[in-house]
Amino acid sequence: MKNKKVSFVQMADPQFGMYSSVSKFSDADKAERRQRGINIEYTGPVLEGLAKETSLFTEAIETANKINPDFVVICGDMVHNSNSDEQFQELIRISRLLNEDIKLYWVAGNHDVGDKPTRAGLAQYKEQFGEYNYSFQEENCYFIVLNSSICYDPGSVPDEWDVLISFLEKELQIAASAQQSHKIIFMHHPLFLNDPNEGDNYFVIPSARRAKIIDLITEYDVSGVFTGHLHRNNYQKIGNTELVSTGPVGFPLGEDPSGIRHVQLDDNSLTHEYLGLTS
Ligand SMILES: [Zn+2]
Repeated sequence: MKNKKVSFVQMADPQFGMYSSVSKFSDADKAERRQRGINIEYTGPVLEGLAKETSLFTEAIETANKINPDFVVICGDMVHNSNSDEQFQELIRISRLLNEDIKLYWVAGNHDVGDKPTRAGLAQYKEQFGEYNYSFQEENCYFIVLNSSICYDPGSVPDEWDVLISFLEKELQIAASAQQSHKIIFMHHPLFLNDPNEGDNYFVIPSARRAKIIDLITEYDVSGVFTGHLHRNNYQKIGNTELVSTGPVGFPLGEDPSGIRHVQLDDNSLTHEYLGLTS
């Protein structure tokens, strides 16, 4: 059996527009975020435009070009405001700096489709980025991309949750019957922060739908679930499955700097490393 390595770069939360938005927060804005558990520390000058995101995402793409992986995946929150054409255009302009022979995959985040996705928001996403639940294969590894904002709150689009969970099960069956060495899931929201039984909060998929996904990843022996959304790194494990939340390309909310993750897979192992950006 061949044992060819697969390598990819995972990015999350370039979130064009967040620096400028955060730099203008009032004390009331900060207090409102704190209530949701988001601690925004920004002491710099008021910012206009997208200069910070532009330099960070450009460095991220240039670093990916040097690593030369099989593909790059961007795990959501591409922009801060999904109605801003300026933010979208700058994201796309820089994404085109990625070498042509490196594939690029998008994952939907809550800033891209809304905290409570609507039909209109989902349709706009499809126009901009394409499908939001899909799969692809690289050598003997199988990758499944999910729109986790639907898992977070499907209240306005309840059938989308049924579609997503049957899609996930069907794809895991396909990967299992093809005896793939690794099954990997990409989505935006983590399943949990510290404990699979923890309560619901802004950062994670709520417990009812979380349990259904955990059942499937355990049953099908998924190697890893890679997410973003936290704007910091977080490493958990459930059974044999690594749960990796990767810090942001854009504005960081924890100790780690902005960064990207290089992941390598071979038949027997999954290794990964977080690379800080210096922009
Ligand atoms: Zn997010």
